[in-house]
Amino acid sequence: MKGKVVKSTGKHYTIKTSDGKLIKCFLKGNFRIKDIRSTNPVVVGDNVVLKKESDRWVIVELDERKNYIIRKSVKLSKQIHVIAANIDQAILIITLKSPITSTGFIDRFLVAAKAYGVEVILCFNKLDLLDDELQVKQKSLQKMYENIGYSCISTSLIKDDISAIKSFMQGKVNIISGHSGVGKSTLINKLQSDLNLNTVEISKVHQQGQHTTTFSELYDLDFGASVIDTPGIKGFGLVEFSVNEIGNYFPEFISLKQDCKFYNCIHKDEPDCAIKFAVENNVVDKNRYKNYLSMIVSESNNFRTNKY
Ligand code: GDP
Ligand code: ZN
Repeated sequence: MKGKVVKSTGKHYTIKTSDGKLIKCFLKGNFRIKDIRSTNPVVVGDNVVLKKESDRWVIVELDERKNYIIRKSVKLSKQIHVIAANIDQAILIITLKSPITSTGFIDRFLVAAKAYGVEVILCFNKLDLLDDELQVKQKSLQKMYENIGYSCISTSLIKDDISAIKSFMQGKVNIISGHSGVGKSTLINKLQSDLNLNTVEISKVHQQGQHTTTFSELYDLDFGASVIDTPGIKGFGLVEFSVNEIGNYFPEFISLKQDCKFYNCIHKDEPDCAIKFAVENNVVDKNRYKNYLSMIVSESNNFRTNKY
């Protein structure tokens, strides 16, 4: 029998079968997956095959994952902790005020999402708090991201209708991301008020001295979308990039970079670089380029200090 993991407690799993039944399931002690240095072999979002063995259900097979998001395991630094698998889309909630979401954070998020194969919808929230100057800034930021191919929504989640967000989410497995305080819980409560998710951030949990072992959970919403609730994940986990790779995740670079003089140009100090030329001529946004540079610099530092 086939099913999808909707909840994991570490000891057992809840599987939703194709006919909508929920089954409590166990993992055999010797269950391992190849090539993943993971502390947890099966996660929320995984598609699995189950079998009844004597009086209990066990997971006997794991389907190949479309993608998975990770957090590095703190204690065992060589291992990773997989948070969830098979995510179609992230709704990234951004606020220009209370709190401020920096474009550095947004661009890093977009790079990681592209690398994982997760679509992103940029949702600018708390429009009601913006003065004239910030409204202009929000509009131009939105336009810039739309021009490079990202879908954007601007809203005040406390008062506006959310049908546009719902239609983006429909038919997909979504995660809702963004800094603490941007409105993630507000959105989730509006999507379906009876869900009662654990959207409490890890940092808040820490402050309160609570137990931090919280698990992801997948919810099927009434309007035909799924949400994976991942406590403590404001962005994605660390992704290991090579410096040469990062430019591939800036969609506006793609059609330009074939005109760089060097095929392996990282668009930093090389002569005759088409990306730098495009930045000088305002074809590529200056601030995006600045964020790109800071990403390649921090990646090469990580490399040098052998952090990964
Ligand atoms: P989370 O930490 O991302 O889950 O953020 P919350 O959903 O808890 O929202 C943080 C605070 O911002 C709450 O007090 C919300 O009521 C408030 N909030 C959410 N959306 C809006 C909005 O559109 N406008 C304003 N003014 N406040 C909002
Ligand atoms: Zn270049």
